Amino acid sequence: MKIDQVRILRLEQSLWGPFWEAQKKAPSASPLSRYAEYAGSLDSWWWPQALVIVRIDAGGYHGIGWAEDGTGAAQAVLERHFKGLLEGQDAGRIERLWDILYRASIPYGRKGVAIEALSAVDIALWDLAGKAAGKPVHALLGGALRDRLPVYASHLQPVANDLLVEEARAYMEEGYRAMKTRFPAHAGMGAAGIRRNVEHIALLRETIGAGVDLMADAYMGWDLRFARRMTKELEPFDLGWIEEPLLPDELDAYVALCRHSRIPISHGENEFTPYGFHQILQARAAHVLQPDVHRAGGITAVRKIAALAEAAGVEVIPHAFSAPTVQVMAALPNFRILEYLTVPVWARKNLEEMVPVFLGEPRVEHGEVGLNDRPGLGIELNADAYPELKPLC
Ligand SMILES: [Mg+2]
Repeated sequence: MKIDQVRILRLEQSLWGPFWEAQKKAPSASPLSRYAEYAGSLDSWWWPQALVIVRIDAGGYHGIGWAEDGTGAAQAVLERHFKGLLEGQDAGRIERLWDILYRASIPYGRKGVAIEALSAVDIALWDLAGKAAGKPVHALLGGALRDRLPVYASHLQPVANDLLVEEARAYMEEGYRAMKTRFPAHAGMGAAGIRRNVEHIALLRETIGAGVDLMADAYMGWDLRFARRMTKELEPFDLGWIEEPLLPDELDAYVALCRHSRIPISHGENEFTPYGFHQILQARAAHVLQPDVHRAGGITAVRKIAALAEAAGVEVIPHAFSAPTVQVMAALPNFRILEYLTVPVWARKNLEEMVPVFLGEPRVEHGEVGLNDRPGLGIELNADAYPELKPLC
C-alpha cells in the first residue's frame, strides 16, 4: 500500500475542550509557580491551544492521527520534513516508517515537538492499517485483554472547598470508583504550602471515604525537599499515587523520592520514546509510568514502553483520554486504569458543551469505557461542525 498523499491541518481548537476552560484559572502548582507572576493560575504558564491533524491516504484507505500543537511547531515538522519522507513509502511498514522519521529528526528531535509530530503520523498509520484489515486497532495489537476498561475522573482543581466537595460527590454518583485532584501548593510556599496541600487532600478523603481511589497531581511544581516532606505528611490519606512532583529531567531526584516515599510516585506524560522511558525504568525513578500516546511516539512507541514497564514490574496508566489511547491500552497486560478529563459539575452550568472534533470516540459510563469493533480507530472527523476540516475529508 503506497502512501499517495499526506495531508496536514492545524485546528485552532483545544484538545482538552471544556476541561481546559474549567481549569485554566485554577490556582494549581505548576513548573513556573516559583515565580510570583506565574503563581496565580495554571494558564499563566500554558501556551495557545490547538491541534495538528494528519491524514494519510494509501490503497484506497485513509488514516487519521493527531497531536497537540499550540505553537504550530509540529505542523511545521510535518509539512517541511515528514510529509516528503512518507509519500511514496509502504504504509503497512509502520515500524520502518517510525524509525525513518525518528532518525531523520534526530538533530532537532528525540523529545518534544518532533516526537509529537511522529506520534500523529504513527496513529494515522495504525488507523489506516486497521481500516485496510477491516479490524479495530486493538485486534492488530494482539487483541483486547478486556472488553471494558476502568476510568478515573480527572479534575478536582483546588477551587473553593464547597465546589470541590460538590464535584467529588458528583463523580461518585456518576459511578466513578477513582478520581484525581491537583495540589494547590507549590514548593515556594514552604510550611504553609505543606499545610494547604494536606488540608486539601484531607477534605477530599473525608468526602469520598476509604472505598474510592484518590490520586493527586503536582504539575511539576515541587522540588525534592518539598516532595520528601509532602509524601511523609500525606501518608495517612492512602493516595493511589502522587503525579509529576518534579521536572521530568530531575531523574536523580525522582530516584531519591521513589526510595523515600511510601506513596507511589508517577510521571511520564512529558517523557518521549522507549529510550526516555527505559532510563526511568533502569533508574527505578517511577512507581507508575504515564506515557501519552499523542506525545511519546504514538501507538508503536507506547507498546514498547509498556513492554519495558511490564518486564520491570511497573504499571502503565496513560496520560489523557482518546480513541487511540483506549485502543492500545485494551491490549496491554500491565494497564490498570484510564484517565478521563472530566468537566466539574460546577463548571458544566456555565460552559457550552464542546462540539467534538472526532465522531465515534469511546463513551465513558459508570466509570468505564467499552470497546467497539469498528475498523481502525473507529473515529471520523466532524467536518459538519468544523468546516475547516473539509480539506481532510
Ligand atoms: Mg498530569
